[in-house]
Amino acid sequence: MAERKNVYTVADLRVGALPNRAKLAVIGAPIAHSRSPQMHQAALDALGVELEYIRLFVESEELGEAVALMRERGFRGCNVTIPHKLGVIELCSELTPEAEAMGAVNTLIFNNENDEAVRGHNTDGSGLEAALREELGTELAGARVLILGAGGGAGKAVAAHAQLVGCASLWVSNRTKSKVEELAAVLNERGSTCVQAIGNETHELLAALAEVDVVINATSLGMKPEDALPLPVEGLTQRHVVYDAIYSPPETALLRAAKERGAKVANGLSMLIHQGALSFVCWLGTKPDVAVMRGALD
Ligand code: NDP
Repeated sequence: MAERKNVYTVADLRVGALPNRAKLAVIGAPIAHSRSPQMHQAALDALGVELEYIRLFVESEELGEAVALMRERGFRGCNVTIPHKLGVIELCSELTPEAEAMGAVNTLIFNNENDEAVRGHNTDGSGLEAALREELGTELAGARVLILGAGGGAGKAVAAHAQLVGCASLWVSNRTKSKVEELAAVLNERGSTCVQAIGNETHELLAALAEVDVVINATSLGMKPEDALPLPVEGLTQRHVVYDAIYSPPETALLRAAKERGAKVANGLSMLIHQGALSFVCWLGTKPDVAVMRGALD
């Protein structure tokens, strides 16, 4: 058996220098920081499934080869992370309606009986929805929602999902406003939810906060201690539910300020766990133990 590594490469995949049971992976660049293997491996082990979930470092120019090799080597599928969520679409023979609506893929599913099939799916939106339900007792369906950073990969996925499940109204905000103007045009064409695009100016965000109940931060602001707040927190009240997709640090300045103002808050760890659990079901056809996955991340 090949020596176990923290991160495998496409060169390892090419020569078969992987553990025999490695049939699931997370692919991206960088990838060493990914916590997906911890939680998936714990779930596989708890179910007695003799498979291994590995980290695979894949650069953009290697993506096609990596996907073809995984398929040839009998992988069940993989998670896809930065920077490949868009680039991998052209390698899919089929997209689920979720992935199609989001224009991004975070899960590939290989069908080992038909080695041509590469199914692209996206569990980011449904993972966030499950997280909101579990942690905050909040449903996206029927809610008035503001998404910050809706021009980015995660924000766009969450916005498309919120529309798919029938939120009552949707505000999409982004520093680069043109990105959410395009997104709102697509979503307004597609569905009946009223989608409004705004930039990230204080007056725009305050106006949106007055109209919504659920606020989702999908900007990367808050990952570093010196980051500015992603919204004017004076607009937050006890009525608001604030979900920050960031999970490291566990409490961002946004969550701290929102809590001080009486809002209900949660961080992105539950989204990470639920999007992973939903991918797991796609590959294994069985639900993992979410508590086991959570425990593996502690
Ligand atoms: P992207 O790089 O695709 O998007 C980043 C977003 O943040 C863009 O909207 C960008 O705006 C905005 N942004 C970045 N810097 C600034 C700034 N200085 N001021 C205002 N806005 C800024 O990243 P992702 O969508 O993949 O990830 C976004 C966040 O979500 C990250 O914090 C990530 O950790 C988290 N995430 C969490 C997941 C989970 O499971 N919990 C899953 C995926 C992501 P602009 O378009 O103008 O550049």
